[in-house]
Amino acid sequence: MLGASVAGTNIQNAIQNAIQNASCVLTGAHLRRPLLSGAMQCPFCRADDTRVIDSRRAEDGETVRRRRRCEQCDNRFTTYERPVLPLLVKKRTGLTEPLDLEKVRRGVERSLAGRPVPEGTVEDIIVAVENAARAASPLVESETIGQIVLDGLKLIDEAAYLRFASVYKDFQGAQDFEREMAALDE
Ligand SMILES: [Zn+2]
Repeated sequence: MLGASVAGTNIQNAIQNAIQNASCVLTGAHLRRPLLSGAMQCPFCRADDTRVIDSRRAEDGETVRRRRRCEQCDNRFTTYERPVLPLLVKKRTGLTEPLDLEKVRRGVERSLAGRPVPEGTVEDIIVAVENAARAASPLVESETIGQIVLDGLKLIDEAAYLRFASVYKDFQGAQDFEREMAALDE
C-alpha cells in the first residue's frame, strides 16, 4: 500500500475526468424492468396507483398470480408472488453470510451517484444479482455478484463502472485504473 495515497489521488482525478468525458450509454435496460420490484408500479406508465383485480393460486400450488390494473393508464399486468428462501453468499475470505441485496444496492448507487442514468437502472442490476443468486442457490460466490454488477455498469455508464471497479477490484495504483480503461475500449 506504499504510495497508495498518491496513486489514490491519481485515480480520483482520472475518475473525475472519466465522469466529465463519459457519455451515458442508454441500453434500453430500463425498458426491461421486471414487474416484481418494490412498490408495485405500473410497468407501462410507472404510476404507483395500481390495483389488484384478480388473485389466484398458480398451477404449482405455491405461487400466487395476481392481475393488476393501473388506475392511471388502465393497462393490465400480471405479478407472481412466492415465498423465498434466504440466499447465501460466500465471501472471498471463505466466510458465508446471508446475501444482503440492500448492501449491493448501496454499492451500485454510490457508483452511479450523480450520473445521468435512466430510472430503474439500479433495480435492473439488483434483479440480475438476485436471479443469479437464486440460480446458484443456496450459495453464490461473491465474485459472481461483483462481476454481474461490473457487467451491468459497463453497459450503462463507464464512469460508474470505473468507480465500482476501483473499489471492488481494490485498485492499488494508476496502472490498475489504466488497465480497466483500456479494457473498456476492447
Ligand atoms: Zn399505468
